[in-house]
Amino acid sequence: MNPSLSNSRIIDESRQGEPFYSTDSETLTSPELKQFYIESYGCAMNFSDSEIVASILTECKYSPTREIEQADLVLLNTCSIREKAEETVRKRLRTIDQLKKQKPGMTVGILGCMAERLKKTLLEEEKLVDLVVGPDAYRDLPNLLNQVDDGDKGINVLLSREETYADINPVRLQSNGVTAFISIMRGCDNMCSFCVVPFTRGRERSRDPFTIVSEAEHLFGAGYRDITLLGQNVDSYKWIHPETQEVYSFARLLELVAQVHPDLRVRFSTSHPKDMLDDVLHMMAKYENICKYIHLPVQSGNSRILSLMNRTYDRAWYEDRIRAIRKIVPDCAISSDIIAGFCTETEEEHQDTLSMIKWADYSMSYMFFYSERPGTLAARKYKDDIPEDVKKRRLNEIVQVQNEVSRANLARDIGKTFKVLIEGDSKKSDQDFKGRNSQNKMVIFKKIPGVQPGDYVNVLIEDATSATLMGRAV
Ligand code: SF4
Repeated sequence: MNPSLSNSRIIDESRQGEPFYSTDSETLTSPELKQFYIESYGCAMNFSDSEIVASILTECKYSPTREIEQADLVLLNTCSIREKAEETVRKRLRTIDQLKKQKPGMTVGILGCMAERLKKTLLEEEKLVDLVVGPDAYRDLPNLLNQVDDGDKGINVLLSREETYADINPVRLQSNGVTAFISIMRGCDNMCSFCVVPFTRGRERSRDPFTIVSEAEHLFGAGYRDITLLGQNVDSYKWIHPETQEVYSFARLLELVAQVHPDLRVRFSTSHPKDMLDDVLHMMAKYENICKYIHLPVQSGNSRILSLMNRTYDRAWYEDRIRAIRKIVPDCAISSDIIAGFCTETEEEHQDTLSMIKWADYSMSYMFFYSERPGTLAARKYKDDIPEDVKKRRLNEIVQVQNEVSRANLARDIGKTFKVLIEGDSKKSDQDFKGRNSQNKMVIFKKIPGVQPGDYVNVLIEDATSATLMGRAV
């Protein structure tokens, strides 16, 4: 998906040590500077990283462009989570190769997880690529670009144990001026056997909470009303104050951000069942502006498969977490991630995943079939023995069951009134607004005079599909 460059406003940078401002890419566009064009693939973390990269580039006299043809520098911020994700990038490079033939001075760079996974192999396999930069090395971009200007290739794929880019002011890309991501930590210490992230993003490190609060304050000042705190596993967020040794847990961070302003909605992603403790749930119940929505990946509904996946919890533990959410935050919506057809999965074990979807009553899920990733624990230890047609059939059954559950879940919202934050015009009609409720459900309703994106409106739900609620402002 191409990030279209967007709109928000400059904020002060006077607070030394926490120089924070978010800049809108439009104000940075100037034809006399070298132009960069960036495409982001994969998870929200990558989109957030692209905003960090945009900031680093604008600091070294590059300006953003929406038009790839105009770009002097083309960057693909890539994902490696499945084989398909990398194939998509390889295909995109074929198109860019044509462009580069017409514009030989164009510099092409690969960022993100594919850069980290493949390293210099990418330079060998893809001759058009001049730059390969891993997720922890973006500060080195100005230096690497100089190397390319001198006729060399630029590569830096060093992973860091400290880097959080806490002092870098993201340039908000593809922003609607209402919602924004704030990355609170990087890396992951879990070693789920199917996952490349620990190899492509390194060890976990949490960012200074005061820089996070400062970014939230500035975003609120700039008119943003909904922020998502991002991390591979937000529940293991932990920061120790260097002087006082005070420990800041995720629940404490949530409270600090929620206290920025009651009109600033706070969301977070992604949670991990093993680390999600009740203190986070009690904090959600305590603050109206901490949204009542949790993304809690289960991956499989069967304990034997969960152990092969090295998810470090079993079905009973996961169910206990769901019960805790239902008890402490009764109006909380829950979504999940599910993998179909993991190594040695039997039909009965597949049925356990289907029953989990029904039992957990997810409002939605991200669903994929298992894609073996080189270098992972699973690739080294287990045979990818489930035939692709069986994987696809099981995935279809999971999607079908999830759609039925989502449809019933959203239908139960008919007749309820929700406080909706307007994010912009509905895709289908500019006569309608779209926005989300606290439960992260998209709500479509007829425009009314006197309100605009960034405003809250109470909406009475009159109809629902498996993905959207429809209603009218009341
Ligand atoms: S928690 Fe597991 S699936 Fe998620 S990023 Fe970490 S290793 Fe990957």
